[in-house]
Amino acid sequence: MAAIVPPKDLNEIRVTADEVKNIIGAWTRDVFPVMELIEAYDGFSVRSKGEHLLEIVSKEEMPYSSGQTCTKSGLIKLREDYYMDACDGNCEGRFTAAHELGHHILHKGVTLQRVADGIELPADYCPEVQADSFACELLIDHEYLKQNLGKHGLAAIAERYRLPVQKLFEHVQRLMENGELAAIQLEMKFS
Ligand SMILES: [Zn+2]
Repeated sequence: MAAIVPPKDLNEIRVTADEVKNIIGAWTRDVFPVMELIEAYDGFSVRSKGEHLLEIVSKEEMPYSSGQTCTKSGLIKLREDYYMDACDGNCEGRFTAAHELGHHILHKGVTLQRVADGIELPADYCPEVQADSFACELLIDHEYLKQNLGKHGLAAIAERYRLPVQKLFEHVQRLMENGELAAIQLEMKFS
């Protein structure tokens, strides 16, 4: 079921992602420590209030999804295999963790609304697009991407920042729609 949340554009989401990066100070590392951040936040900030941020669940408990986040409590559940993948620094697990952190930060306390029949939802209103955008903005150095996409290509940049190349491709399309990347750069990537 497609759901609607209050709109957030890419620029707003980038500001939020940058605030999260700043939690751990000036961010200069190539590979953003997303799992370390979630576990540190869970350990110190959230549990001190008697709450949990993160729960690891079995494949049996969550057979059809890699992760989920409760919009009421903000609790992030990561399936055990994706959690281990993230802890090992692999792309799929890291992206799942960053995406769910996006739901936690952007959608906790938000009421999901069902999309009316026949409506094509603008991307800014889609919680999955918002969470994907957040994950990409968190994991990637935005300025490096803009300056080096044409030179190095999608696959090399996805490898550098440890996220799935398909997710980076989708983000590059969003950046183009946002007027931040010239079409020529994408042509250079895929021609
Ligand atoms: Zn999601």
